[in-house]
Amino acid sequence: MTETSTRVAGVDRPLPTRIDHYIGGAHVESVDGSTVPVDDPVTNSHYADLATGGAADIDRAVAAATDAFAAWAGMSARHRSNLLIRIADAIERLADVIAAFESFDTGLPISQSRGLAARSAENFRYFAEVCGAIHEDAYRSANQFGYVVRRPKGVAGLITPWNAPFMLATWKMAPCLAAGCTVVLKPAELTPLTASLFPEIVEEAGLPPGVFNMVHGLGEEAGAALVAHADVPVISFTGETTTGMTIMSSAAAHLKGLSMELGGKSPCVVFADAEIDKALDSALFGVFSLNGERCTAGSRVLVERSIYDEFVRAMAERAASIRIGHPSEAGTEVGALVSTEHYERVLSYVAAGVDEGARLVAGGARPEHLPTGNYLAPTVFADVTPSMRIFREEIFGPVVCVTPFDDEADAIRLANDTRYGLAAYVWTTNLRRGHRVAHQIESGMVWLNSHNVRDLRTPFGGVKQSGLGREGGQHSLDFYTDLSIVHVALQDAHVPRFGVSDE
Ligand code: NAD
Repeated sequence: MTETSTRVAGVDRPLPTRIDHYIGGAHVESVDGSTVPVDDPVTNSHYADLATGGAADIDRAVAAATDAFAAWAGMSARHRSNLLIRIADAIERLADVIAAFESFDTGLPISQSRGLAARSAENFRYFAEVCGAIHEDAYRSANQFGYVVRRPKGVAGLITPWNAPFMLATWKMAPCLAAGCTVVLKPAELTPLTASLFPEIVEEAGLPPGVFNMVHGLGEEAGAALVAHADVPVISFTGETTTGMTIMSSAAAHLKGLSMELGGKSPCVVFADAEIDKALDSALFGVFSLNGERCTAGSRVLVERSIYDEFVRAMAERAASIRIGHPSEAGTEVGALVSTEHYERVLSYVAAGVDEGARLVAGGARPEHLPTGNYLAPTVFADVTPSMRIFREEIFGPVVCVTPFDDEADAIRLANDTRYGLAAYVWTTNLRRGHRVAHQIESGMVWLNSHNVRDLRTPFGGVKQSGLGREGGQHSLDFYTDLSIVHVALQDAHVPRFGVSDE
């Protein structure tokens, strides 16, 4: 990492001007020397050159991870767990830098990137505990005893998106390392800045060289080479559904283990008997936090018709009061979208909503006080119907659709009228109905009278086109390990005797 004198608000550390790969404990350039420029989302100007890896760089990283694997997998769980705790300590020591760099690079409000930095340390602390508690099952019957041997799968390829880049990388790295796998991480090319801190973090913690490796670059080059590599038996991917589909077809050649955390278009269902103020707070936070660039965003708010007009009015009024501003300012609630390309894409959805006849009741344009940067005022569309693109497609920005429903069956029908199934939120004080609806919404996760708070032990993931497999707690360990069963006879086993004539 080469440093410059450019600084980010709030931290006493210069920005790098160059970000390289990290392979076998060393910072290295791409084999072919190639780089791409990286921009920040407020000035949209180039702040660093990012090494862009290809197949040769992935080969080097996989070789380093393969060399380190046997010793890492053979280390006692206690020792590995202690190293994970030390990684958490190092993240906490650097938390202000991580938060400020993340906010600078992604445009997320600093108050929210601070929360993500804290959560990243928590991911390592939690999986340090899981690591210390790894166990293997045994099955006993009268004549036979079977015991399970849990083996780490080997080198894991971790591919992460740009929306909460540091936190999502730790969400994969912590269980992967706890399970005894070694890592090749491919961070999102749009937001590599906080990933550039991982080498310092793992070195401070004392992780052996080669256990953690990172190759930067474009998805179609570095990412695709990682997925295609014969010596990488598992890929954990978070990103768009279409990218997930490409990865699945490429991984099929080696029958790889896949964990797919993909897109969403999650419903937030508000019944007339809900605690309306809380439901309103949750609906707003659910779609406008993290700039709406959130896989579990409640981007379709379904409201019972008897309270619909009042709810829409209140949402529009509150959305118009949300503080949109520079990501580094403490009071900012919505910051800048990650790139000009993504900004244009989100704006194109606003135009599509207007064209298709949805009623724009808040936002829809750049705020007047922010003439430059990728800023969009929190946008609320009412009277959105299921045929409209803004109801069907993931926008991944501060845009919410509001749709009325008539009764419980209608709410469930609308909630399920999507190809996605990641998260859902249900607000009602009728708990029988709340559970009934939660059981019928096709979704990997439902929050009932609650917003998106995670318990790290619970299964995380989606159904339909939102994903495959589950991460979280024991589910993550199961993904990164293979289970083998050893059967042992406790008595003389009766073995049928083939080839012996029965006189
Ligand atoms: P993306 O799919 O464009 O990119 C994600 C990562 O995949 C990047 O590192 C990219 O370089 C890499 N990639 C791209 N093409 C590849 C290929 N052919 N082979 C291998 N790797 C490739 O997604 P994004 O735009 O960075 O992120 C936004 C998306 O992520 C949204 O759809 C969002 O819903 C989803 N997401 C899902 C979750 C979840 O847990 N379900 C969490 C966060 C984000």
